[in-house]
Amino acid sequence: MDKYDAVVIGAGNGGMVAAIRLLQGGAKVLLVEKHNLPGGFATSFRRGRFEFEASLHELNDFGPKENGGDVRALFDELGVTDKIEWTPIPDAYRLICKSEGLDALMPFGKQAYINAMEKQVPGSRKATEAFFELAEQTRAAQAYTSSKNGVVDSSYMVKNHGNYVRTGSYSVNEVLDSIKMPDKAKRILNAYWCYLGAHCDDLSFSHYASMVVRYITRGAMMPKGRSHEISLALCERIRELGGEIWFNTEAEKILTGADGGVEGVTLKGGRQIKTRHVIANCSPHVVYGRMMDKVPERAVRAANARKFAGRGFCMFLGLNKSADELGIENHNYFLYDTMDSVRQYELMKSIDTNRVQATVCLNRAYPQCSPAGTAMMYFTTLYMSDAWGEVTARDYAKTKEKVANIMIDRFESDTGSRIRESIEEIAVATPLTYARYCGHPEGGIYGYESQYWDGLNPRLQMMEHDHITRGLRFAGGYSMRLSGYSSAYFSGDITGRQTVGDIKKEG
Ligand SMILES: Cc1cc2nc3c(=O)[nH]c(=O)nc-3n(C[C@H](O)[C@H](O)[C@H](O)COP(=O)(O)OP(=O)(O)OC[C@H]3O[C@@H](n4cnc5c(N)ncnc54)[C@H](O)[C@@H]3O)c2cc1C
Repeated sequence: MDKYDAVVIGAGNGGMVAAIRLLQGGAKVLLVEKHNLPGGFATSFRRGRFEFEASLHELNDFGPKENGGDVRALFDELGVTDKIEWTPIPDAYRLICKSEGLDALMPFGKQAYINAMEKQVPGSRKATEAFFELAEQTRAAQAYTSSKNGVVDSSYMVKNHGNYVRTGSYSVNEVLDSIKMPDKAKRILNAYWCYLGAHCDDLSFSHYASMVVRYITRGAMMPKGRSHEISLALCERIRELGGEIWFNTEAEKILTGADGGVEGVTLKGGRQIKTRHVIANCSPHVVYGRMMDKVPERAVRAANARKFAGRGFCMFLGLNKSADELGIENHNYFLYDTMDSVRQYELMKSIDTNRVQATVCLNRAYPQCSPAGTAMMYFTTLYMSDAWGEVTARDYAKTKEKVANIMIDRFESDTGSRIRESIEEIAVATPLTYARYCGHPEGGIYGYESQYWDGLNPRLQMMEHDHITRGLRFAGGYSMRLSGYSSAYFSGDITGRQTVGDIKKEG
């Protein structure tokens, strides 16, 4: 039997970063990936003369060299920053909610954002400043928690991160109300909620605020070669450090010993790998439901208590005219029916009522991403129920086409640009595509939903408690940092380092 200090299952964002951390900690590592290429959702694909980005709208918390964020610092430590060619995203977002008369282009940069908000909502300056102050304190407190692997000194926390402790158990809306944020400013500020996939009555303030402050103060970046460029850089680094990556290799079983702890992994086809440490870059539902014969009851209960977050739908268009010719002005659009996120969330449960879209025209950030005289767009939405699970095989193609048409109509009517007649390539991914591609239940692309009791703070503080089976830890969108690129990278960082600690403790 082959023997490794650790096996990482899945070469998604979390899995690849975990593998590098393990290697940097001196472990002998095998990374297995069921596909023939790395990245999970972090990849690209070609149709005709277009190379489409599969998922990333913009990378948060990377930032330029002179104002680098935590992801840049992590990439520097991993040794991958300079393997990737980056391009900045021009503006934070354009929010359009026609029914509420909103059309706001919001810039990056704290002062520029506060000024733009004041212009949109006169009298909002003080509240927006208060938001950024609280958000910055929250970010600092979370950095402290991560640096302690979740085992924090509560008196230190109260003394040094008082506002974080005070706001930690409240929702976005509760805290924004308490700082007297005018209603319209609240609606503009809350535009990013669909990136986290939980509505603002549920979403914890500290989670949302720490994301927004990172976006606005550092700006967002995009790798020129799509997210696949990052995935390739991470793989190259794993190999430079002596790690092994086996593609086209699915892990079928995690083997456990008499103590219930990890003893090995069985690959599809029957080959067995001996290891006492597994990092799973997939969901606990899949690991406990399919990959393990003996599962502690506490683990089953913990997984079942959680709620699946948004199931993905994405339409990709290659257009035979330039963004200028088509009248596409911006990189990143949020198009909503209502800025009441609770109502909007309800509408996103059904195929008939979901009209939300987060739409990107990559040419606005990187004009050369498609051939001269063309443009490339992707339109993403989330379903807050398993609505696509109820679509029959017979209705599937028809339903895809219906939703794609609605997305095109909405973009045209909300922005005034004309794209339909210029479509050269079209591809559509539904929750079924995502379920098949990464193996996540119901086609979820955002892991487990952030809820009051299960948001970022509780997960960070309970991560050792969640370590139920000896030798088994999780990285990626279903783990302690929740979903998204930066979060998945951070979870791989934490889990990789924790596992190095576990290996060292065993001697
Ligand atoms: C359309 C779309 C748009 C998005 N937009 C953004 C965005 O703009 N910003 C953002 O931050 N996030 C965005 N996301 C979410 C982001 O892509 C994910 O949160 C993140 O990539 C998840 O990373 P992960 O580490 O969980 O790995 P995943 O991407 O889930 O990959 C898991 C990997 O494990 C492999 N695997 C699973 N089981 C096995 C097994 N048994 N054996 C071997 N291999 C296995 C899979 O093949 C896959 O490669 C978007 C996602 C989608 C789909």
